[in-house]
Amino acid sequence: MLRIFNNDISNPDKFVVTLELVPKRESGGLSTDALINIAKDAFADGRISAVSITDNPGGNPSLSPDVLGYEIFKHGMDVIVHFTCRDMNRAGMESRALQLARMGMKNILALTGDYSGKGFGGQGSPVFDFDSVILTKMLHKLNERLAASEDPDGFFTGCAVSPFKTTEAECEAQYRKLDRKIEAGASFIITQLGYDVDKFQELITQNRIKGITTPVLASVYMLSPKAAKAMNRGKVPGVIVSDSLCNRIIKEWENSKQEGLSQAIERAAKLAAILKGIGYNGIHIGGIHRSFKAVGKILDRMAIIEHNWQDYLEEFRSDDKNCFYLYKKYDYKSSDIKKSENNVNEYIYSEYIASQDNIPYTLKDNLFDHYPYLLLKQLHELFFNRASKLSPIYKAAAEVIDKNNKAWILKTFVEDPLKKLFLSCKSCGDCGIQHIAFQCPESGCPKHTRNGACGGSRDGFCEVNKDKKCIWVRAFNRLKKSDKIENLSKEFVHPRMWELNNTSSWINFHLGRDHQKE
Ligand code: SF4
Repeated sequence: MLRIFNNDISNPDKFVVTLELVPKRESGGLSTDALINIAKDAFADGRISAVSITDNPGGNPSLSPDVLGYEIFKHGMDVIVHFTCRDMNRAGMESRALQLARMGMKNILALTGDYSGKGFGGQGSPVFDFDSVILTKMLHKLNERLAASEDPDGFFTGCAVSPFKTTEAECEAQYRKLDRKIEAGASFIITQLGYDVDKFQELITQNRIKGITTPVLASVYMLSPKAAKAMNRGKVPGVIVSDSLCNRIIKEWENSKQEGLSQAIERAAKLAAILKGIGYNGIHIGGIHRSFKAVGKILDRMAIIEHNWQDYLEEFRSDDKNCFYLYKKYDYKSSDIKKSENNVNEYIYSEYIASQDNIPYTLKDNLFDHYPYLLLKQLHELFFNRASKLSPIYKAAAEVIDKNNKAWILKTFVEDPLKKLFLSCKSCGDCGIQHIAFQCPESGCPKHTRNGACGGSRDGFCEVNKDKKCIWVRAFNRLKKSDKIENLSKEFVHPRMWELNNTSSWINFHLGRDHQKE
């Protein structure tokens, strides 16, 4: 097993560089050969700690990262395998994890994953049995089993975060989910890709304030006009390329391909220099498909310009007046700067500027969101609070109903009609509404997330159901209006128990059968 990436990222003096490779829908051929050659050249270059390999990006089938990774791994190059929750249930995921461990590939980037794309015969069924927090926890627990079976090198699991969210609710949802990922065992963080330096800074500031010391790699992407247009139109979930940046890139490539390419290298080198300057532990380079050459040029150029990183800041500041920032933007030229113990620039914490005002709810919001929330909260408090005096009575009643096999009557005539009306309940028998401000993760979230938002939302709306607000945005707004934001990042939420499907969740709760059992 190779420990290059693990060792490098654990060294606070090392600025780590990783490289993302995207396999295509083929088992061999030119594009696969190109990826192998990029990895070989990266190894020979010596500045790359690992290549990371995507897992069916966009939800579309492609060559497995496990097999491509293993081939690269045998050449001596360390590999990070992307591992998503979209295509397999928990049995398949655990089996895949064991297979990776057996192959010695234990650097995992645990992701919820993009929604299902198209394969043979149309769109595939989305599994999402776990979310990325649960997957991280599973890998963490598996490490104990590996150790017990005389395999002491456990999984080295990382997570993703997007600081590039434009609304307060999405920012908070992302950062609070990050807390849960770290709590579940994530040992490194890779950002989503973006071009707003104040957003990159926001993540670093936020981590410092919370005392999060987990190393962070920032994504730096070589943008071609095709990729820029797709990202600008929102075709790549969670990625934002502004109109002005997109237009600039189109123009650069229009003049000549050569100019477009050298501008892309220059932009990537400048951004990388800034990210090193503001305290990132490394960069994660993407957008490389044909040869390693551009990566070498980015790193060479970065080495030349990195001492002047502050000169390039203005190129990477957004002019979007509607974008929300958690903190006041830094004036990098001011004296708000000090050196940390390991000689990295640290900025004095900036002022928190999140609005503390109540969300201006309209009458419609109150009628269809706030009041139903208050009602469900009250009912939950009354009927499903184990600390209440009535709880033993409910438990005794549940025992009688269950013993007489009459739970179906309660479910069919009372529970189902009420829960379908308020929650579009899917009868999973293991209710998780209390974790998401009384919304259903089964009916409300296409990825069934139980521990926080996926990275795919855009301006508050869902990656999949683009006309609907993300349930975590609604959860934040509900909790904020009720002054209970702290409930957004609470304890780890266990996965749904499928053995309870189509049974009464009320009976299951009171008999201690569901995921909340004590
Ligand atoms: S509701 Fe939110 S968390 Fe669920 S898929 Fe949509 S954007 Fe992602």
